[in-house]
Amino acid sequence: MASIAAAQVQEVRSITRIERIGAHSHIRGLGLDDSLEPRAVSQGMVGQKMARKAAGVILQMIREGKIAGRAVLLAGQPGTGKTAIAMGLAQALGPDTPFTSMAEALTQSIRKSIGIRIKEESEIIEGEVVEIVVERAAGGGGARVQAGDVITIDKATGKINKLGRSFARARDYDATGQQARFVQCPEGELQKRKEVVHTVTLHEIDINGKVAEWREEGKAEMIPGVLFIDEAHMLDIECFSYLNRALESETAPVVIMATNRGITRIRGTNYKSPHGIPLDLLDRMIIVPTSPYSHQELREILNIRCEEEDCQMSSDALTVLTRVATETSLRYSIQLITTASLVAKRRKATEVSMEDVKKVYSLFLDEHRSEQFLKEYQDEFMFNDGSGDAPQLM
Ligand code: ATP
Repeated sequence: MASIAAAQVQEVRSITRIERIGAHSHIRGLGLDDSLEPRAVSQGMVGQKMARKAAGVILQMIREGKIAGRAVLLAGQPGTGKTAIAMGLAQALGPDTPFTSMAEALTQSIRKSIGIRIKEESEIIEGEVVEIVVERAAGGGGARVQAGDVITIDKATGKINKLGRSFARARDYDATGQQARFVQCPEGELQKRKEVVHTVTLHEIDINGKVAEWREEGKAEMIPGVLFIDEAHMLDIECFSYLNRALESETAPVVIMATNRGITRIRGTNYKSPHGIPLDLLDRMIIVPTSPYSHQELREILNIRCEEEDCQMSSDALTVLTRVATETSLRYSIQLITTASLVAKRRKATEVSMEDVKKVYSLFLDEHRSEQFLKEYQDEFMFNDGSGDAPQLM
């Protein structure tokens, strides 16, 4: 038992650590003052003043419920803070305004792949019982859940609830929760009636219909939320048409997209358009450009990231890192903070030195040097396109 408890504590710690050093974890808001003017350095945000000011106006409009169903495009070169601004906007909106990122499905898969179990999080399936099939009924007992009942199943504990009464655990349910097999008796009687197994078919309650009903009765109001789609050029023409239609709906959220592409092909077509986004959608978007950072701004962002990662860095190491950011990319140099800090720890130093940064710079290639390396040695790689020859396996 003790080892299980220890493993769980470890898990919780890992979550905190991962959350803490995420790429945008230093961003706490848009860094604006009360009149929505951007401060030079605030809430983890540096520079990019015009885009942050524009995001501030959008923030105000969302708060006032003025721009539901509108689309905003953050457009600019890689690493110019488009995602950071969207994250800052999410923070500024606060937890009561829904903010969803398209990458969330991927995030969940990544979390699954690193073995994190979020404690006490459970998903409740709600539905109306359409059909009950008794599979085994050796012990008998009258049906307590019937067709037409609205029940919920807690996916984590398997508990079934009908009108506030808790029933025995569901043994099995399919991914959509539409089929559930469970022992049908009140919880306390589980031991006695183990043998009664039922299968129910649920169908999802029409949430949109319910919400419309509540709104009419004045029981509910809509809070326009935000859907963030990073790398918007990855969507294909069908997604764009769907979005175009969805934006017409009365209950559409504000859609914020980000892209670093110039004029490029719209996926699923042979047409080219700015940012790979169809012109009719582009036409209805508010476009916010982001631009490259100055040397001083890069230094400031790197400094904030060092603080975020509890990394003490000497001034000349930060100077080298800033030069690396200017010559390669901001993202690459942010990566070097973690690795340089590990190198410093290994030699039991409390501060990252210029040598540590130089060492990791030589150990880990940036995109440009990696390309150079490939050009030099491409003949020794399999399936390279450079030579035009068929791959040599032997
Ligand atoms: P891409 O086009 O490649 O997706 P992007 O424009 O979305 O890039 P980000 O991912 O936002 O760029 O920025 C790269 C890193 O720099 C992130 O860790 C981000 O949090 C940080 N960053 C970018 N801009 C700022 C800023 N103005 N203030 C503080 N941190 C920033």
